[in-house]
Amino acid sequence: MPAPNIDTIVSLAKRRGFVFPSSEVYGGLGSAWDYGPLGVELCNNVKQSWWRWIVYDRDDIEGIDSSIILNRLVWQYSGHEATFHDPLVDCRECKTRLRADKIDLPEDGKGSGVAELIRQKRVKCPNCESTDLTEPRLFNMMFRTTLGAAAVEDDPTSLAYLRPETAQGIFINFLNVQTAMRRKVPFGIAQIGKSFRNEITPGNFILRTREFEQMEMEYFVKPDAEHLKLVDEWVEQYVEWFKGLGISGDNLQLHEVPAEELAHYSKRTVDIMYRYFPERPEEPRQWEELMGIAYRTDFDLRSHSSKAVDGEGTRINPDSTEDLSYFDETTKQRFYPHVIEPAAGVNRTVLAVLMDAYSEKTNDKGETRVILKLVPKLAPIKAAILPLAKNKPEIVGMAKAIKRSLQPVLRAVYDDTGGIGKLYARQDEIGTPFCVTVDHQSLEDEAVTVRDRDTWEQERIKVSNLAEHLQNRLKE
Ligand code: ATP
Repeated sequence: MPAPNIDTIVSLAKRRGFVFPSSEVYGGLGSAWDYGPLGVELCNNVKQSWWRWIVYDRDDIEGIDSSIILNRLVWQYSGHEATFHDPLVDCRECKTRLRADKIDLPEDGKGSGVAELIRQKRVKCPNCESTDLTEPRLFNMMFRTTLGAAAVEDDPTSLAYLRPETAQGIFINFLNVQTAMRRKVPFGIAQIGKSFRNEITPGNFILRTREFEQMEMEYFVKPDAEHLKLVDEWVEQYVEWFKGLGISGDNLQLHEVPAEELAHYSKRTVDIMYRYFPERPEEPRQWEELMGIAYRTDFDLRSHSSKAVDGEGTRINPDSTEDLSYFDETTKQRFYPHVIEPAAGVNRTVLAVLMDAYSEKTNDKGETRVILKLVPKLAPIKAAILPLAKNKPEIVGMAKAIKRSLQPVLRAVYDDTGGIGKLYARQDEIGTPFCVTVDHQSLEDEAVTVRDRDTWEQERIKVSNLAEHLQNRLKE
């Protein structure tokens, strides 16, 4: 049973130290969230799982970490300056800001386009139901900043942007990575990092924020590769990866992005959607994008290249000093590689993982307990070491020593801040797979009780075998 709605996760996340509303002491900041002690571990585990899978387990992908602020020309030639827009609509009545492409349109007017329907007063503000809406106008979502101490606000020579995607840092480094690592196409470059978008309607907790983290990979292939089929292959692999993070296949769905909605660089995009809104009665409205897999053609490498020309033979990019084409030694051909891009969000993955792991169980006393059934590799803490009597120095000493001995092989904590029932409940709620209890008998038999989070079953294990026992069970 996954979480019934996002709000359930918001309250658990705050109560247990996963995610806090940012800047709360000043009333918050709309869409910003801070990751607490357990949230940062969960995010790190998601990122580590991705990096291992995509960079270490394969032999054809390299990792990089590029700058957040790039030369402004990158965004000019990538097309983001001209086209990275969302259509903005204002409600004149209640001043709510809306994204025109996300407004619910009347069933019988879907063919007419949102601007025409707004003119006909057939679109309602979801907040106050007024039909007095402004026509959509385009709003560039890139955050602007100025570089240098002497820069004045509107000096175009010092204008720079915070990156809205990590991908461009990969494209401009294509040749650096290819030559330094002696790579042959096909190969990929992966990157994890923050991106920034001045979203018109941020919200739904960490689903849509203005600052977020992406895990992107550009896979470079030959111009005659089977690009559309490769998109399907990557979709399949990602669905399996998400399932390996504990996300149920029932809560994943594929969405083929219609041609008219494709980004300017894409010939095909498939979104993997997650059921973030199970409480919504209409099935289609339960889903939101978890990640997208796009066929970006050779658009980006050509756009950044000094020698690429358009149909009339004119140079596309007179500012670039490098040509990002690739020379194929076997066929003796030079070409701009084409790209398949799986782009996933760390934060949306974390939210999906939390929602899917959420479950409730009733104990012997009829009390409902929350259990976060995280797959062990994602659990922020793998084992909690709990003394049964915190006023008995020998028991406390033994528990602390066990914690210290486990720490080099797995993340363990010591906790004596409550009675054993409370301590178990707390660890269940934060997804700790195992609780290790040290009791009076432990002092004599050098053994401890290991309690399983999901079954609440307990077994007695010798301290000398504990690390190996836990490591084996964490792999299950
Ligand atoms: P949406 O349609 O939801 O705005 P998008 O199609 O613009 O998303 P992409 O450009 O494909 O998103 O970005 C790749 C991934 O980055 C998304 O699938 C999502 O996981 C993540 N992402 C994008 N924008 C945000 C955001 N504002 N907050 C959190 N994650 C985001």
